[in-house]
Amino acid sequence: METAVSENLARIRAGIAEAARQSGRDPASITLVAVSKNQSPERIDSALAAGQRVFGENKVQEATEHWGARKPDLPDLRLHLIGPLQTNKVRAAHALFDVIETLDRPSLAEALGAQERRTGRKLSHLIQVNTGEEPQKHGILPSDLPSFLEVCRKDAGLDVRGLMCVPPIEEPPALHFAFLAELARRHGLKELSMGMSADYGKAIPLGATFVRVGTGIFGARRENQP
Ligand SMILES: *Cc1c(COP(=O)(O)O)cnc(C)c1O
Repeated sequence: METAVSENLARIRAGIAEAARQSGRDPASITLVAVSKNQSPERIDSALAAGQRVFGENKVQEATEHWGARKPDLPDLRLHLIGPLQTNKVRAAHALFDVIETLDRPSLAEALGAQERRTGRKLSHLIQVNTGEEPQKHGILPSDLPSFLEVCRKDAGLDVRGLMCVPPIEEPPALHFAFLAELARRHGLKELSMGMSADYGKAIPLGATFVRVGTGIFGARRENQP
């Protein structure tokens, strides 16, 4: 029998607290983002029943299926978009999410800024950095960060709080976490979204303020979806 979501959540929360303690950090400075992509409604309800309120999704349409009906009843729910955002889905994403972690190009920043001005609702944003400079991966190149930050803030008027990365699978993640932390420090950015089920314990000593954990909480994802 698979381990219950509530037990997994308790174990991950304890792991976060332990990693924080060992690195002399306040556990309250780290937010667990439960990644509910490709998970069943039952598992999502179990996480909610266990008190989890911050969730991450990587697709706007699936996020709407998961959260559209639940959100009105959950005033303290916080939804993070952690996957690439197409410009034609900005309106739907802006209506559903609280934090966009994947700013990665000027046209997206402009579209989000325009939607915030139209509606008067400001979100929090993180810039995704392609720390490994992988051609197939989303995120801006580290060398483009200063100019992109300027576009996001000055031109688009976005509230950029920090940076996010997904390290290359074949490299030690800690190198990328340390690099992302250095970039954030250089630009005075407070939030760092880094670390997943396999490596959140390595991201916390390096300054992660958001850890994005999916399978570690919910178990294996349904396979018919990527
Ligand atoms: C799926 C996903 C995660 C969660 O990964 P797990 O290994 O299941 O914890 C974290 N971040 C991003 C960007 C993802 O797409």
